Amino acid sequence: MFRLDGQVAIITGGARGIGEGVSEIFCKAGAIVALWDVLDSGADTAQRISKQGGKIFFQKVDVTSSESVEKAVKEIIVKHEKIDILINNAGIIRDKSFLKMERTDWDAVINVNLNSLYITTKIVLPYMKDAGYGRIVSASSVNAMSGAFGQTNYAATKAAVQGFTRSLCREVGKYGITVNCVAPGFIKTEMTASMPEEVISAGIQMIPIKRIGTPEDMGYAYLFLASKEAEFVNGITLHANGGAFPV
Ligand code: NDP
Repeated sequence: MFRLDGQVAIITGGARGIGEGVSEIFCKAGAIVALWDVLDSGADTAQRISKQGGKIFFQKVDVTSSESVEKAVKEIIVKHEKIDILINNAGIIRDKSFLKMERTDWDAVINVNLNSLYITTKIVLPYMKDAGYGRIVSASSVNAMSGAFGQTNYAATKAAVQGFTRSLCREVGKYGITVNCVAPGFIKTEMTASMPEEVISAGIQMIPIKRIGTPEDMGYAYLFLASKEAEFVNGITLHANGGAFPV
């Protein structure tokens, strides 16, 4: 169950953090993973997972660039002839209280976290439609529901991901394509590493299971939604936050 043998999966922002965890779990489940990132270290991540037996290759892709995404997708199609799974995981933060937030902080976050979904999904979807099968899973956040000080830009994009998901699922279900998102809670990655120790400890105290989440935890959440077995689960947000914010 929940195997992805021979399925071709794109995982954006896969060089580190949650994307790395998802790549690792998908490879263990038998997928062929195209790991996308703007960071060159994505090549090292892919190599590490490949040494464990994973079928994975790195493509340097900026998800805010149609040209970059188009080129990478064409390469995948030439080599593997299909794309079964698209994981829209790449995301950034530019935290500032709203009064101090510059337009550039706003635009950068909207561009990477939201506009990228237009670009990647628009380019990949026709291949899924032709194949009569697809799984699209995108990254929302617990902060879409809870809000967070200094994250008006970030929370706006993560709430938008949920609206995008609920709408697109209504359009493409008839082609065998499901569209869902994962809302991670407090996960140990570079994105959270810059937080002061006391903020991390206070965050863990809010989690009923008393530990921070891991990229591997998120890998299993994404695996479920990306599986064939999850066909009847469509348009949802899977809240993976250890119970910190029950929804
Ligand atoms: P990380 O910052 O650790 O990893 C994200 C990766 O995406 C980085 O390698 C980053 O590169 C890359 N990336 C950024 N911009 C682009 C781009 N334009 N094209 C391709 N790749 C890009 O983040 P996390 O692993 O922590 O988070 C992954 C996702 O999960 C994000 O969408 C995030 O918002 C969401 N999330 C994370 C939570 C957490 O607690 N960590 C909680 C809730 C949601 P670079 O370093 O250059 O930016």
